[in-house]
Amino acid sequence: MGNSVPPKELGAAVEVQMIEVPAPQNRVKVVDKQTVKGTVPLPEAELVVSAGRGMKGPENWGIIEELADTLGATTACSRPVADTGWRPHHEHVGQTGVAIRPNLYIAIGISGAIQHLAGVNNSKVMVVINKDPEAPFFKAADYGVCADLFDVVPRLTESLKKFKAQSN
Ligand SMILES: Cc1cc2nc3c(=O)[nH]c(=O)nc-3n(C[C@H](O)[C@H](O)[C@H](O)COP(=O)(O)OP(=O)(O)OC[C@H]3O[C@@H](n4cnc5c(N)ncnc54)[C@H](O)[C@@H]3O)c2cc1C
Repeated sequence: MGNSVPPKELGAAVEVQMIEVPAPQNRVKVVDKQTVKGTVPLPEAELVVSAGRGMKGPENWGIIEELADTLGATTACSRPVADTGWRPHHEHVGQTGVAIRPNLYIAIGISGAIQHLAGVNNSKVMVVINKDPEAPFFKAADYGVCADLFDVVPRLTESLKKFKAQSN
C-alpha cells in the first residue's frame, strides 16, 4: 500500500522501556462555567431583543424577557450592562462582544455608540426605542420609537400577544 511501512518481524524479544513524561501545567484556569439554555444562540438568532443602560437595573429585565418570549426572540444587551453584571457576558453584542446579523434587532434603551453598532449593523431591520430624540441609534435605525421604554415595551408585548391570539 502506498505511503505505509509494513511491520517487521525481529525474531527476538524486545526490551520495553517505560518513560515518565511530566504533563505540562495547564496555563488556562476555569473560573466560571455558564451554560446558555433555551433560546437560539445569539450568532444564529433571527430575532433579537436587546436592552441597555436605559433599563436602570437588572430588576427591570422582566419586560424585556416577556417581549422576547412573545416574539420567540433571543435576548442581548449592551456592554456596560454585562460589565456591571446586570446580564450575563454571553449576551453582550458589539465590537468587543458577539457580532450578530438577525432579521430583526430591537434595541431598547441603548444609545447606539459606534462600538455597539459595529456588532449589530448587519441586522436586516433595526427598531430602536429610546426617549432621547438625539440618541445616535435613531440615525442607524429603520424604525424608531421616541418614548419611555417602560411605557412602550409592555404595550408592544400586549399588542403582539393579542395579534398572536387572533392569528391562531
Ligand atoms: C474599546 C471599547 C469597546 C466597546 N465595545 C462595546 C461593545 O462591544 N458593545 C457595546 O454595547 N458597547 C461597547 N462599548 C461601550 C460604548 O462606547 C457605550 O458606552 C455603550 O454601548 C453604551 O451602552 P448603553 O447604550 O446601554 O448606555 P448609555 O450610553 O448610557 O445609553 C442609555 C440610553 O438609554 C436611553 N434611555 C434612558 N432611559 C430611558 C427610558 N426610560 N426609555 C427609553 N430610553 C431610555 C438614553 O436616552 C440613552 O440613549 C465599548 C467602548 C470602548 C471604549
